[in-house]
Amino acid sequence: MTATVDVRAPSRVRRAEQVLLTVLGLLVLRYSVAVLSPVHLVPPLDPNVWGFTAISVVAATAIAMRGDRTDPTRRGWRFVALGVLVLGAANLVYAWPANPAADNELDVAADFIAVLGMLPVVHGLGSLVWAWTPIRDRTELPDAILVGLSVFAVATSLLSHGLDGASRGSLASMAVNDLGVLVDIVVVALIVAALQAADWPRRGPLPWLLGAGLAMAGTDGAYLVAIAHGSYVPGGAIDVGWPVTGLLLTIASQSQAAPTGSTWPIAQRAPLVMPTVLVAAVAAVLVIPDVGPMRWLARTAAVLAVAFAALRMHIAVRQALGLATELREARLDPRTGLPNRRALLALQERELRGSTLVILAIDGVEDVTARHGVATGEAVVTAIVARLRMDLRGADTVLRLGEDEFALVLRDVPAQAVAHLAEALVERIEQPLEIAGHSLSVSACAGIAEPAGNHPSPERLLAEASMALRAAQASGGGIVRAFTGQVGPTSEERLRMRRAIRGAFHADAEAFVPYYQPIVDLTDGSILALEALVRWHVDGHVLAPAAFLQEIARADAMPALTMHMLTRSLRELRGAGLDLPVTVNVPPDLVDASLATMVQGAVRTSGSQPRHLIVEVTEDAIIADPQRGASVLAGLRSDGVRVLLDDFGTGWSGLSLLRDFPLDGIKLDASFAAPMWADPTTTTIVRGIAGVAAELGLLVIHEGIETDEHVAAFRAHGVRYVQGFACGRPMPIADLVRWCSLHAESNGTAP
Ligand code: C2E
Ligand code: CA
Ligand code: CA
Repeated sequence: MTATVDVRAPSRVRRAEQVLLTVLGLLVLRYSVAVLSPVHLVPPLDPNVWGFTAISVVAATAIAMRGDRTDPTRRGWRFVALGVLVLGAANLVYAWPANPAADNELDVAADFIAVLGMLPVVHGLGSLVWAWTPIRDRTELPDAILVGLSVFAVATSLLSHGLDGASRGSLASMAVNDLGVLVDIVVVALIVAALQAADWPRRGPLPWLLGAGLAMAGTDGAYLVAIAHGSYVPGGAIDVGWPVTGLLLTIASQSQAAPTGSTWPIAQRAPLVMPTVLVAAVAAVLVIPDVGPMRWLARTAAVLAVAFAALRMHIAVRQALGLATELREARLDPRTGLPNRRALLALQERELRGSTLVILAIDGVEDVTARHGVATGEAVVTAIVARLRMDLRGADTVLRLGEDEFALVLRDVPAQAVAHLAEALVERIEQPLEIAGHSLSVSACAGIAEPAGNHPSPERLLAEASMALRAAQASGGGIVRAFTGQVGPTSEERLRMRRAIRGAFHADAEAFVPYYQPIVDLTDGSILALEALVRWHVDGHVLAPAAFLQEIARADAMPALTMHMLTRSLRELRGAGLDLPVTVNVPPDLVDASLATMVQGAVRTSGSQPRHLIVEVTEDAIIADPQRGASVLAGLRSDGVRVLLDDFGTGWSGLSLLRDFPLDGIKLDASFAAPMWADPTTTTIVRGIAGVAAELGLLVIHEGIETDEHVAAFRAHGVRYVQGFACGRPMPIADLVRWCSLHAESNGTAP
């Protein structure tokens, strides 16, 4: 029952209904006592003639009165009331103390009137049941039909067995009586079907109706059987059934629709329990030898019920298969049929033990699609998958994690071999492809997560490989960067690394190469500055800072690295004729009195000018000793070198930092970038910070702008300066020079 319309009539009517119901109850009681008691406890008043008639009239009145004009079920109930009245009349005819000669004809006439009375009852109940039956999904209707048919089959079979071997009366009376009971059974089947569809509500009219229906069908059936066997005694126990039916029917008409969700205790299992029980009963009908006049009807209904059960099973199996497919598909990339990110995350730890995860990011597919169409783009993807599969063994898996991201799960491959394999894969993917007459090429880079410990969770492997991949991308692409994640390099590896670092600085430190990432002004596309990010070229690899900065610090080489980066980047830019400032990262430890000397030295040796240099420091550098920090920064600025506060928003300090320290600008950490358009709170915070900074006359640079959508969103928020992959990746000086001239061309400005 979905709607909980309050069908309660105004209280006066309601009270009248209650009075009627009480009177009815008393009448039924009196009638039952009169009929059932061996001695006459109540005054002689022919219960069959007057008792039942009075009950019918009171019941019909109560039923007809229920509800007010707005009640949608009122019409249905009025039909029921009419039927009850006609049934009362039928009884009057039946029990009329006529002369014995005419009695038989009168009986047949009474039965006929009774069947006529059934018509409005069936019509009324039918419309009520229909109004109360919510069909919410496509299994509910078949379920309802299944239980209805089963009830019909079982009841008809019972009736048929009861009538077996009985001598039947005249054809007319037989037809009329049989029909009456069959209609009863249909009504019960309908009610059961409605109950099934409504998930077996515990309260409301339907359970009472079921009671009334069962009482009616039971009484009519018993009466029919008794008549056929010549054992019917007027005024006997059977006769109590009809008044009780009337009482139950009246109670049903007075009861409120059950509120949604109220169910029988079997509620949750009901949708399955009832069909199952009933199908078992139907099976019994088919097994027990069928006898009696209605055996064909019972058998046909039983066969139909079984057919419906089969259909229902078919639907259930199809639903299950559909679900299985959906589930499977959710773990497969629909384009390539490869397992996807979800499949990777669903892997068990034991399946991953000893496995290495390699993630490959492909760059350029989008470009191909934009230029040559979707079909060509997809052909490129297919070709890439084929190339990825070339060298794999049976135990290895290829996955597609995203549009342009693939992964390999390699089992028990030594670390050295993994690096070679990944490099070979990148090389192979970058080979030109011949598709639809075009020679196309894409670029790739890879991140590797090596097996860590006995419990490699897929999340952790994925996170580590993604980190490695980012590092590879940040170093310009095409390069494999192995990350050992939390486990970290072994002490032996660290020792080797430290030795290599010392060696590199002992020589001319040329292995530490600045890669430059542009900071772009969104308002006119011009370049505000370039951030110099260090890369270590070692053993044919390009390592990102995450892989070695810690070891640099341990090797006490931080000052050397910083001096090297300052000098080299200033010199390279000057050498390339780029009149742009460069930002250099200065670690907290170096923000002390000697920094000014170091910076002046770098500017001097590189033949550059202080205005070309911007120093990036983090808040750690100044909050440890604010006074010293402030004086160091002030010194730098008085020399003409500008200062940016890096990674702003990740630390503990607040906006007062911006007021109390001599700064030229802040860089808002990349972690604020992604939620900027998804999360209004972040947007508010970021805009607030940016607003305060701008008020104080500070530059505000947003880091981590990865995609064109980010750019559009930031532009829409009125953001001016941004840095990120969307504008340009960190690149060595030669690439930077090319990039700058291309950028100037497309932007219509001189570099
Ligand atoms: P940082 O100063 O916050 O530098 C920005 C980092 O974000 C760089 O990583 C850059 O490649 C990366 N990045 C740029 N655009 C995007 C983007 O759109 N998305 C994402 N996810 N990342 C982006 P990188 O080069 O690996 O540097 C990492 C950190 O290492 C730097 O963080 C900086 O703290 C430190 N570092 C880099 N070079 C030097 C250096 O020469 N000296 C010192 N002391 N530290 C350095
Ligand atoms: Ca920085
Ligand atoms: Ca930063």
